[in-house]
Amino acid sequence: MRFAVIGDIHGNLEALEAVLSECESRVVDQYLCLGDIVGYGANPNECVEMVREIGALSVCGNHDHAVIGAQNLNYFNSHAREAVIWTAKQLTEKSKRWLKSLSLVQHLPDFSLVHGSLHSPELFNYVQTIKDADYNFRQMERPLLFLGHSHYPLACFDTSPMTYTLDPVIHLDLSVKTVINIGSVGQPRDENPCSCFAIYEIEENKVELVRVRYDVEKAAKKILDAGLPQTLAMRLPLGK
Ligand code: ZN
Repeated sequence: MRFAVIGDIHGNLEALEAVLSECESRVVDQYLCLGDIVGYGANPNECVEMVREIGALSVCGNHDHAVIGAQNLNYFNSHAREAVIWTAKQLTEKSKRWLKSLSLVQHLPDFSLVHGSLHSPELFNYVQTIKDADYNFRQMERPLLFLGHSHYPLACFDTSPMTYTLDPVIHLDLSVKTVINIGSVGQPRDENPCSCFAIYEIEENKVELVRVRYDVEKAAKKILDAGLPQTLAMRLPLGK
């Protein structure tokens, strides 16, 4: 069985379309989504609709939480806050209802999904270091956890001592707890502007982090045309 794990789409329709077309060519059985479907980008409703259409099992991100009024906006920087307010105004009732239906954590038989961190998921902490991953290892009841939020792909292993890799292909050892940050579809921040997502081949115990080019210029222009903060458009081609 082949899973596609996508997340941090952030209303970037061009990026999401490119990723889904790559997934189609790889024949994916099931989509999983790690949240932050909206926020920053110019097409929040279209992205919600598309994630619904592909039947993705999805968890709620901090931006999704904020646009439905469930998150204190003081936790956001000024550009993110402006985007949240803009997005909340654009979203249809249908989109909001669906975002409200998302839970913070999903446990499947062999792995779990969360946006930020399994340790107090409602706080949306980041996993950017081995120490951050350790908080998650202690909460994990399954050997594998997928998460996003930092927009920076990374895999951490509960070996002794703990280790990590930035390699795009990760071979899983199910006796070692593993946390995989799958990067971002709609706003990568690892200085590579290409969309990032993961393909998980469950029978092969293999996860591949895939990069896909998309029409960055078009997505950036839409952000400017929508009157969203200029910096949100300028960061896309830089991958920052
Ligand atoms: Zn995000």
